[in-house]
Amino acid sequence: MQHFPIFLGLKGRPALIVGGGEAAARKLRLLQKAGAVVTVVAPRVLTEIEESGARLRRRGFVAGDVLGQTIVFAATELREVDDRVAEAARDKGLPWNVADRAEASSFILPAIVERDPVVIAISSGGTAPALVRRLRERIERLLPARLGQLARFADSFRGAVKGLLPDGIIRRRFWERFFDSAVAEAILAGQDRRAREAMLALVNAPAVRGTNVGIVHLVGAGPGSPDLLTLRALQVLQRADVVVFDRLIGPQLLDLARRDAERIHVGGGFNRQGLPQAEINVLLARLAGEGKCVVRLKSGDPLVFARGGEELAYLRRRGVTVEVVPGITAALGCAAAVGLSLTHRNRAQVVSLVAGETAEGGAEIDWAALARPRQTLAIYMGVGTAGHISRRLIEGGLSADTPVAVVENGTLADQRGAVGRLGALKTLIRATGVDGPAIVFVGDAAADTSADEPVSHQLAEVG
Ligand code: SAH
Repeated sequence: MQHFPIFLGLKGRPALIVGGGEAAARKLRLLQKAGAVVTVVAPRVLTEIEESGARLRRRGFVAGDVLGQTIVFAATELREVDDRVAEAARDKGLPWNVADRAEASSFILPAIVERDPVVIAISSGGTAPALVRRLRERIERLLPARLGQLARFADSFRGAVKGLLPDGIIRRRFWERFFDSAVAEAILAGQDRRAREAMLALVNAPAVRGTNVGIVHLVGAGPGSPDLLTLRALQVLQRADVVVFDRLIGPQLLDLARRDAERIHVGGGFNRQGLPQAEINVLLARLAGEGKCVVRLKSGDPLVFARGGEELAYLRRRGVTVEVVPGITAALGCAAAVGLSLTHRNRAQVVSLVAGETAEGGAEIDWAALARPRQTLAIYMGVGTAGHISRRLIEGGLSADTPVAVVENGTLADQRGAVGRLGALKTLIRATGVDGPAIVFVGDAAADTSADEPVSHQLAEVG
């Protein structure tokens, strides 16, 4: 080991920084976070340092400055001065660090990932800073944003759990299970009140030694490309015991779940028969009831044409903890994929997400009301009824010349697009041979796109 790793308590302890520039300011920020009482010695200091509340000695360094300090930072960035500071610290037996000079320091500062009170420190002993940065980024991505809240939550129950489970081994097992439990999941999902209730019930029921409360994450998987998943979606996917998914969820997305997670295909989605919604609801509640961490993975966003709202309401009524993790809805994914600006300063001030087909028993869409200038319609599930839609929009007052764009399998490797005019929408779709999930954009915004690459020329006539 090049360096001995420790976490040093500096709350209320004196620390010295020599230097008044950027390097000194960086150290100062860190030290103040750790609660140190900092003295800065430098003839001139940055405004940030001046306003930091640190004690200032506006003059050059003298060896006596290290007296009474617990830790010393040389950050003047002047080699000769920094060396003098280091020497003075060494003479007094104090640990010292010279900014950006590991070889001249008695200790170095690790890269850190902070989820206060959890801190992860990384070092390569000064050998590979770029590698350390990469590791830091990876750990940063891996750790839930609310990990610190989880640590604090656990801490707030430490005494109660200790009283309830005096046996150290049993207590340790309790805590191990706790961090894998749905109570912990609820904290990470920001549902502190529910978690607290579940935890109180747990610690007050001496018979219950497990943490058998499940959670369902309603997760948006985005339009298809796995790298369009949100970080949070990735994190819950990696924690899930069970993944319940639809037809539009590709295998690449499922690969992101833990290898031993159960995967349940409930089909449905675009134009296909799947498990009836009522049965999906029951399934989700049952899995959560078994104490599992369930990810209900839906394409796009779970609350946009995905019946996520029904699942949410059903689960809530049964007291199941639910978290919604938003996703990039198909309209946004497809617009980005073909460079179509959904809004435009004077050509499109309204964007409407419209279902081209409504669920059985749903009300017919008021197309006439949607036939307005200066707006963009993003029509989901509209391929099958394209002829009907274009007729209704034109009857409602939109010009047959209104630009349209169709994007199929948006963001995926087999994405295709076509542009044309509203009057010939049905022909355009037929000519393109759309048979996968597709979004139809209607409005002037659809004119400026690359949706037609590579089929623009052959379709120019059609429009
Ligand atoms: N919840 C999803 C929508 C599900 S409804 C979301 O927010 O995106 C299914 C419809 O979404 C499909 O019929 C199609 O219109 C659209 N869709 C989903 N993925 C798509 C993709 N990759 N490209 C184009 N359209 C897509």
